[in-house]
Amino acid sequence: MTGTRSSSLDLIGNTPLVLLQGPSEAAGCEIWGKCEFANPGASVKDRAALWIVRDAEDKGLLKAGGTIVEGTAGNTGIGLALVANALGYKTVIVMPENQSKEKMDTLRALGAELVLVPPAPFPNPGHFVHTSRRLAEETAGAVWANQFDNVANRKAHIESTAPEIWEQMDGRIDGFTCAAGTGGTIAGVGLGLKAFDDNIRIALTDPHGAALYNYYACGELRSEGSSVAEGIGQGRITANLEGAPIDTQFRVSDEEGIEWVGRLLSEEGLCLGLSSGINVAGAVALGQQLVAEGREDARVATILCDTGFRYLSSLYNAEWLRAKGLPVFPWLA
Ligand code: PMP
Repeated sequence: MTGTRSSSLDLIGNTPLVLLQGPSEAAGCEIWGKCEFANPGASVKDRAALWIVRDAEDKGLLKAGGTIVEGTAGNTGIGLALVANALGYKTVIVMPENQSKEKMDTLRALGAELVLVPPAPFPNPGHFVHTSRRLAEETAGAVWANQFDNVANRKAHIESTAPEIWEQMDGRIDGFTCAAGTGGTIAGVGLGLKAFDDNIRIALTDPHGAALYNYYACGELRSEGSSVAEGIGQGRITANLEGAPIDTQFRVSDEEGIEWVGRLLSEEGLCLGLSSGINVAGAVALGQQLVAEGREDARVATILCDTGFRYLSSLYNAEWLRAKGLPVFPWLA
């Protein structure tokens, strides 16, 4: 039998890699997108969820019928809820209440217990991450997934995403870039690809309002501006980001990211979230940088993080876009 899996968990990963036409033309070299929206939970975070749960089981922290508690912008919760259902665990998800309604509805539909908290800066004890840690401590038989500082997260990308990309590109890849939320993807794919070929240029693509661009550019954690992108934008060096092999960095505005989201949908039939658009803008910048150095045959890969179906009431809603002062896709206007 071909194309079969003996377990639903084996549906996580092994996503296709697609050549992106418009971005390749804009960069003057090949830009490839890793289709993480093709995971069962429709995002890149299914991988982190599976690795975190397996790690907790291996360490004896998670026992039969136990509970997984996590603070998440949504996608990790969706991944955890699916993995937990498949393995007989319960999930409690703490989420800031400014995240998309679709993610909240999805989490409830999957059977997760959803706890909404007001958005708060990280040092505030009410921040969703701290709230989730406290809830885990107070709940019998619960483990805290701790995606930001649990390096089982980036291990997922060292052990699965990076080798998949390397194999799919026949070992001919010159650059990789993506944005950071926890940093698991950029650090894990970066470390994994560098293990195959240290010359692969790893670039961080940072949204506005995040502090990592300045950190990698000049050693200072400082942010400017803001972004409506969900799931990305980090203000500190998480354990997952420690030692990430970042060679260069780009900063991408929401407007640029939205421009790519619109083009990828209308020209290539890919319906994606804003972090994917921001990643593609970064990949185009990285491709242009390599071409300017005389490497016209450069090949760059990035991550198409999640499905746009998760943002019908925001990114794909004219009223919402107008209220945020963002450009409206012509077919919605
Ligand atoms: N895009 C989206 C939509 C996400 O939900 C996340 C996860 N926070 C990311 C990108 C970033 O991934 P990571 O946490 O691995 O940095």
